[in-house]
Amino acid sequence: MANLGYLQVVRHCNHVCGFCSNPTTPYEHDFDSMKVLVDDFVRRGYFGIILTGGEPTLHPELPRITAYAREQGLHVRMITNGSRLADRRFAEELARAGLQLAHVSIYSVRPEVEARLRGTEGTLEKAFGALDAAHAAGIELNVNCVINKLNADHLDANVQHLVRHHPQVRHFVWNNLDPSMGRAEVNQDQFTPRLADFELSLHRALRFLAKSGRTFRVEKVPLCYMTDFAWASTETRKIVKGEERIVFFLDAKQAVRQTDWEHVYAEGCAVCTLREICGGLFDRGEGYDPAELHPVFVDRDAVVERIITDPADPAYALRDLRAWRADFARRVEETKAARRRRLPLAEGQAAEREAMRDRAAPAVGKLTERGKRRFEAKRRSEARKVAERGVALERLGEQLPETEGG
Ligand code: SF4
Repeated sequence: MANLGYLQVVRHCNHVCGFCSNPTTPYEHDFDSMKVLVDDFVRRGYFGIILTGGEPTLHPELPRITAYAREQGLHVRMITNGSRLADRRFAEELARAGLQLAHVSIYSVRPEVEARLRGTEGTLEKAFGALDAAHAAGIELNVNCVINKLNADHLDANVQHLVRHHPQVRHFVWNNLDPSMGRAEVNQDQFTPRLADFELSLHRALRFLAKSGRTFRVEKVPLCYMTDFAWASTETRKIVKGEERIVFFLDAKQAVRQTDWEHVYAEGCAVCTLREICGGLFDRGEGYDPAELHPVFVDRDAVVERIITDPADPAYALRDLRAWRADFARRVEETKAARRRRLPLAEGQAAEREAMRDRAAPAVGKLTERGKRRFEAKRRSEARKVAERGVALERLGEQLPETEGG
């Protein structure tokens, strides 16, 4: 399986997004604490690693851990806001270290919308600069976009602009906003979209990209809101192929291993032909409404076949439907058994997260006095910045060790 693991390199950032789901914490990494986690991915037979944050380019050891992960045979990627990557010398340094793919996050090509979402002025030009600098350095490029209330109506305009002006970008990734964590949780009214807000513009964006020969993935969007492109759903692809994901959170959550991709369903889902391969509604934090779901009656196997025969994705070994059905039936039974085992725990979001915590994994990051001081200073400065923009600061909780988080 082509499992990809996420390593949060830092949790501070040079932007102040109003819906940040992974804000600043007092935990820090040095090279050795990251190396242990890279080794853990290698031991588990993972295909690749995604270096993320916070903003990973703010860690001085980023080139070194990139080189180390690459030497261990991992495919090395990074998710970045692009502000530092726009520096050509830095892009070249990362390319030399072995960075293969950069996901540059751009929420809107409208500068005023991007600035409002980022809580920072002038970030869009830098993100565009990062696309050019990384390309010049030989790093492959994706654009990542969090779907939210402010960009929901122009996802199609975003990709049209990017394809026209930055044709080197060949792959696009959308994440519907996670309203359950960090600053996103306390600013749901400002940033969490309704599913219907983006249905049309997402459909237009996907149709445009398909015609222009680009590839794409969409995460946390129920299939009834992307039926024609159901094969591009990240959750659906993971359900179909039986993949897992580990995130090494640089906070109290620590190592989280996700093998079950199902979220919330409505009564109507029971008759929906895509139910078995749909991740449902990502309603953690109760930002979305199950009443927005509606059953669809399309050919499930056509979606499955498109995924398992994708020539660009050889991750799943079984390439015909009969073999897939047998393998899938076995995995469904295993998942049901795992859910029954954790049933006593399965009340509420916290218990669900606890069930996903991998306590056998190495510790993630370190808590030092310097880290605590930096966290407190950063939190004070972010409190000022978000207040100026009418955005609330995240509650203290999972950023801190369990005994301190309350
Ligand atoms: S109705 Fe339910 S199962 Fe069907 S596509 Fe929508 S969320 Fe998925």
